[in-house]
Amino acid sequence: MTGDLSHSLWHKTCREDVVASNLVDHVTADLVVIGGGYTGCSAALRAAQLGTDVCLLEADTFGSGGSGRNVGLVNAGLWLPPEKIGALLGNTAGARLSRLLAKAPAVVFDLIKTYQIDCEATQNGTLHCAHARSGLKDLQNRHRQLNAIGAPVTLLSRDEAVARVGSDAVHGGLFDPRAGTIQPLAYAVGLARAAASQGARLYAKSPAVKLSRETDGWLVSTPDGSVRARQLIMATNAYPLPISGYPAPTTIPVSYFQAATEPLHDDLAAKILPKEEGCWDTGLIMSSWRRDRAGRLIVGGMGTPSHIAGEIHTNWLRRKLTSMFPSLSNHPFEAQWAGKIAMTTEHIPKILDLGQGYACFGYSGRGIGPGTLFGQHMAEALISNDPSVLPVSVTKQHNLPFAGLRGAYYETGATLVHLLAQRTGQKSAIAD
Ligand SMILES: Cc1cc2nc3c(=O)[nH]c(=O)nc-3n(C[C@H](O)[C@H](O)[C@H](O)COP(=O)(O)OP(=O)(O)OC[C@H]3O[C@@H](n4cnc5c(N)ncnc54)[C@H](O)[C@@H]3O)c2cc1C
Repeated sequence: MTGDLSHSLWHKTCREDVVASNLVDHVTADLVVIGGGYTGCSAALRAAQLGTDVCLLEADTFGSGGSGRNVGLVNAGLWLPPEKIGALLGNTAGARLSRLLAKAPAVVFDLIKTYQIDCEATQNGTLHCAHARSGLKDLQNRHRQLNAIGAPVTLLSRDEAVARVGSDAVHGGLFDPRAGTIQPLAYAVGLARAAASQGARLYAKSPAVKLSRETDGWLVSTPDGSVRARQLIMATNAYPLPISGYPAPTTIPVSYFQAATEPLHDDLAAKILPKEEGCWDTGLIMSSWRRDRAGRLIVGGMGTPSHIAGEIHTNWLRRKLTSMFPSLSNHPFEAQWAGKIAMTTEHIPKILDLGQGYACFGYSGRGIGPGTLFGQHMAEALISNDPSVLPVSVTKQHNLPFAGLRGAYYETGATLVHLLAQRTGQKSAIAD
């Protein structure tokens, strides 16, 4: 198992493509965007739609960061329930952010339709599943809060959830019909293609290595070229390569790994997630499962497989699959991969004011919808010179002391939970 994207299922099954050369020239633009994941591609697309001359620089290939490695659950809102967001941001700002992100799946699925992005888009809803009886309280609380802001979510009884998932390891569920799943890498590459179709200039294999302030804007240098632009969007999130003159904001790195089985035969596919909802659970060390278009089951959990205790995580995958779906106990895995999540202390994404530019980061594991929207809104705010259109107020400074230690805390928690599951058998480890 590796952090190398070429080992991922998403790399293997991506049907989208975009033409982009590396930057070997000295060019000028109105706006330069650094980072070709959802945030950067969406910002470039929006800027180009508004008639702005925009350059997008990606260090590697489009979607090679978190956008090409994730689970592909297109959810509304953040991880945090609305009342918690209100408590952290203040009621007015919190309600505004929750309202905006309630529309995130619709925005994502509309973009996919408009630009005909071939990314296995399936808007059949998602299921937040209770991992134990204790998880039901969390779901009931979320159900109450989400209903209060008009979200059409429904609580499923244990029997209903068991039937929908095809596993008796779930204790209930919260169904959100607005949500769905995508092939995440294909969505990122498709967004890049959409941006190019609207006139954005795309450069791949073109890492920004130096950033300098100029009288009226920025000079971004790459190994073989440069971009001079009045405005800048920095969208490198959990995967920042060093840029001289720009200390990237620190986030708490949390590793999450996944494995995909070989496609399920029709008889199993009729029982396991027959409606193809994407799922995750209420466990503190959460796990996820979903199907792809070919009928593979993709299981994920927190932890770093390349870590010294990595074998504990990889062994956990097989036990998780067996405990949830005993009929798959010998079903082979065909791909395994991992990615890094950028967490903030409050689990709310941040926009840093760079002066004539923004940096955005910290979606804390929910960046498909939020990344798409934050990218759009940052482009709009810069072009209209109106920061009030941003989804959150800007921060002037971002320091996160001991981020590495906090990341180690999550890693240790994941290792202990997966080790406990190994010692006691998966079922007793997930019982409350
Ligand atoms: C394993 C995993 C599972 C997840 N599951 C989900 C999920 O199911 N649903 C959900 O909503 N969210 C999920 N997320 C979160 C989501 O994937 C991220 O929030 C989202 O991809 C962030 O997009 P981004 O564009 O901000 O950053 P990224 O996609 O990480 O893009 C940053 C890009 O910047 C580039 N870059 C870095 N430095 C430079 C430089 N110097 N010059 C040029 N380019 C540079 C990188 O190469 C990279 O392509 C998950 C994340 C992970 C890792």
